[in-house]
Amino acid sequence: MNIHEYQAKAVLREFGVPVPNGIAAMSVDEAMKAADKLGGPVWVVKAQIHAGGRGKGGGVKVVKSKDDVKKEATRLLGSILVTHQTGPHGKLVNRLYIEEGSAIDKEFYLSMLVDRETSRVAVVVSTEGGMDIEKVAHDTPEKIVTVSVDPVEGIWPHHVRRIAKALGLDSDLQKQLSPMLSGLYKAFTEKDMSLLEVNPLVVTKDKKLICLDAKVGFDDNALFRHPDVAALRDVTEEDAKETEAAKYDLNYVALDGSIGCMVNGAGLAMATMDIIKLYGMEPANFLDVGGSASKEKVAAAFKIITSDPKVKGILVNIFGGIMKCDVIAEGVVAAVKEVGLKVPLVVRLEGTNVELGKKIIASSGLNVTSADDLDDAAQKIVKAVKGG
Ligand code: GDP
Ligand code: MN
Repeated sequence: MNIHEYQAKAVLREFGVPVPNGIAAMSVDEAMKAADKLGGPVWVVKAQIHAGGRGKGGGVKVVKSKDDVKKEATRLLGSILVTHQTGPHGKLVNRLYIEEGSAIDKEFYLSMLVDRETSRVAVVVSTEGGMDIEKVAHDTPEKIVTVSVDPVEGIWPHHVRRIAKALGLDSDLQKQLSPMLSGLYKAFTEKDMSLLEVNPLVVTKDKKLICLDAKVGFDDNALFRHPDVAALRDVTEEDAKETEAAKYDLNYVALDGSIGCMVNGAGLAMATMDIIKLYGMEPANFLDVGGSASKEKVAAAFKIITSDPKVKGILVNIFGGIMKCDVIAEGVVAAVKEVGLKVPLVVRLEGTNVELGKKIIASSGLNVTSADDLDDAAQKIVKAVKGG
């Protein structure tokens, strides 16, 4: 789960990490009040969306008068902000963060993430802050330094020294870096973050080290022990279909293609996506209905797929093990009866209760093409969509 910059900074503040003063605003009026409270003389008006690259996209403006705070707040609120991370459709700006302006001397990059290979926390730093880190990694990989932290030991002075050296910090800044790193690390581990990215980490003209931007993602599997974090969720930032799927505990990820897939088992779901691509089309989603899906859950999943206007055809691919084919068939039939079916549907069932499942579909009167195996199923749905 991701949160907004202003929320991430509030979390970091709790852990004693230096961030600029700022106030979130949901309206122009609130933005003006925030500007009054912060006092100026320089403010930064920042669009709050779950995507980076806002600066280049016009979503971060440094201003020197309250009139300009008003002007930028009016322009941004309710607008669609397009950045290289939002995709061409952009994101609607519903919230702003008004911050006191900082005079920047240097911009660095710092992030923490879980390194699964080493089972450690990787601290990644670079002198090339404020830029697209993917581009830095591609063009000048030597400018990225990774320091690995053993979770049993946590942050030690040698980590601080290595990072300070990589960033070229003098001894005074290194003294500031030490508690900052400890605070960031404590926030990362105690809140079960999966990513904590500070880009840029800046040195101000008066030689203060502060986090000017913060992007935080949390491990969904640990959310149950952080109700305070779960409360920060902004569902308007998430795909409505994914939010709906989460209610039914379905593993669903929306994608850009046109073939909706309903599959059981993550491995089979991936194989199904691959074979759709092999036959020249793209999947509209990843969906694993799980091993113990009920008829209701299957119906919910099917409705989510059909609610997607990009879906031009549906492929149901079930290998009945614990999951029984008749349960799938009943779920599909129930969903179609409720919401109708405007696109071709190919169903491939195999395994437990397969005969019963096929019978339920055959006697439902639905316009369903049945398939014998994965290959046959993929070819049939691609043909049906292309032909239609
Ligand atoms: P992002 O583009 O979405 O990553 O948004 P950031 O919060 O990183 O802001 C983009 C850029 O705006 C930063 O890299 C800075 O160069 C600039 N910026 C942000 N806040 C300030 C500030 O207080 N003062 C100055 N001078 N520039 C700022
Ligand atoms: Mn940034």
